[in-house]
Amino acid sequence: MNTALNADLHCHSVISDGTLTPEELAQRAKAGGVQLWALTDHDEVGGQSRAAAAAAAAGLDYLTGVEISVSFLGRTVHIVGLGIDPEDQRLWIGLQNTRGGRAQRARDMAQDLARVGIQGAYEGALKYAGNHNLISRTHFARFLVETGVCKDTYEVFRKYLTEGKPGFVEHRWASLKDAVHWITDSGGVAVVAHPARYGFTANEEYALFSEFKQFGGQAVEVVTGSHSQADAQTYAGIALEFGLAASRGSDFHSPEESRTDLGTLPPLPEALTPVWSLLESRIQRAPGLGSLSH
Ligand code: AMP
Ligand code: MN
Ligand code: MN
Ligand code: MN
Repeated sequence: MNTALNADLHCHSVISDGTLTPEELAQRAKAGGVQLWALTDHDEVGGQSRAAAAAAAAGLDYLTGVEISVSFLGRTVHIVGLGIDPEDQRLWIGLQNTRGGRAQRARDMAQDLARVGIQGAYEGALKYAGNHNLISRTHFARFLVETGVCKDTYEVFRKYLTEGKPGFVEHRWASLKDAVHWITDSGGVAVVAHPARYGFTANEEYALFSEFKQFGGQAVEVVTGSHSQADAQTYAGIALEFGLAASRGSDFHSPEESRTDLGTLPPLPEALTPVWSLLESRIQRAPGLGSLSH
């Protein structure tokens, strides 16, 4: 199976917290040499038909995608779903419920920021949210950069909006079990996104991967924008230990903010089973190019 395929299976559009449209992302992916692409907006599949059409127009093979926010052992974990059916009713309702608390959370975040002297953050963040239902910390981060409180969004997440810092509001997302079931029951493959970011202890991480696997999860992101080479090695080991396939995705959000552009990641380690080998039948092939050799 072709681990060298330039697959980029994780990124965000204006439908969640990215700054480019699905059409702009498809063109950028093509220009970056991507062969197989997926748009994975947070808790939302509203961009999927546009992304699939734009991929076809750009000559890119496409997999549907989503990134679901999950609460696990008191932390937020992200589960990517690839090859999902965006029309599946249980998935759709599950995502709608997952998004549901974002508006109130955003108001609470703004109130907390006001306590440290930052006024107008709710309105300020909302201005950046292309989809108001999907108001996220990223939109607050852009507001804090715009107003000169921080020099970039990385500084924002070091000083604000994360656990113990001003503007952080504890939130209850979907359960791991539900998220994995919504994805797999709609025909997709569930993937643990950027595992190096969670800060779990070894025991907690073992619980995450064991439960994920038990609920029907099948893959882990090994090569992704926020992973170092050492992280990729660590999670290649986890993939082999737990019998999981491996995914690769930049987690691109914006040309101004993202350190990793579409299509520029290193390849998956050869010893791993690429997640696209589990998704052959779900890939929407670019018209006129025939089948790529995997
Ligand atoms: P939310 O879903 O509203 O909690 O927002 C989470 C989003 O914030 C992530 O998807 C990233 O786009 C962005 N983000 C960037 N850096 C960080 C960080 N260090 N910690 C958490 N989120 C971050
Ligand atoms: Mn994001
Ligand atoms: Mn994520
Ligand atoms: Mn993401």
